Amino acid sequence: MVVIVVIVTRVRETRIKWARNCGCSIRCWVQGKEIQSIGDKVGVGCMVGACHSCENCKNDLENYCPKSIFSYNATYYDQTRTYGGYSDVMVANERYVILMPENLPLDAAAPYCVLGSRTSPSKEKEAIQHLGADSFLISRNPDQMQAAMNTLDGIIDTVSAVHPLQPLFGLLKSHGKLILIGAPEKPLELPVLPLLMGRKLAAGSFTGGMKETQEMIDFAGKHNITADIEIIPMDYVNTAMDRLSRADVKYRFVIDIAKTLNIA
Ligand SMILES: [Zn+2]
Repeated sequence: MVVIVVIVTRVRETRIKWARNCGCSIRCWVQGKEIQSIGDKVGVGCMVGACHSCENCKNDLENYCPKSIFSYNATYYDQTRTYGGYSDVMVANERYVILMPENLPLDAAAPYCVLGSRTSPSKEKEAIQHLGADSFLISRNPDQMQAAMNTLDGIIDTVSAVHPLQPLFGLLKSHGKLILIGAPEKPLELPVLPLLMGRKLAAGSFTGGMKETQEMIDFAGKHNITADIEIIPMDYVNTAMDRLSRADVKYRFVIDIAKTLNIA
């Protein structure tokens, strides 16, 4: 097990309906496995346990284990409740601890522990000029959508509200893939004909397994990639949740646990 002093934690909107919080906790205190020693910067994502014997677990896909344990609002092995990163100290099994690259700042790397993204029309200029996007397409703009028909190899759909899939299938080339990573409260309608006509695929993905997550963080560290964040104090969380519901954030909230947990 690894004892962690929490410096920052992030807020994730996909799970607002479930638990309204998620933890990404930084700084290892006590030695766990070989790669972690006292003072290492570490992170914990949305999982803290699984069965470790099923096919998914054996293939480093603990995230799809039927017995996986979320890091918040779940029951741990010892029947205690998990509370995510909303605390100043956390204990985690070393399998679920991600080693953070030394060169990445803790706050801007925190969102990588559980991935996701969202955007809106107001962010077009920023996406192209600041984030390096090649182009920007607004799904509510029929002219732009028409011009982009049959041009995409794949779409990562992050929308967590009910929305039509048919326009998205229209954007895909033949053999294109629509990957859903949002979690709408109600079922989406699945138009089958557009799938048949282009041998297109619709699939879902929750989060990465621990091995994949470590690889992704290492990649971010190697290329010095960080997330755009807004740092908030602990007592701002409820306001942040309301703002998330309105997509009013660029692009992730990260809570400064170390400085503000005990004040709130
Ligand atoms: Zn398992």
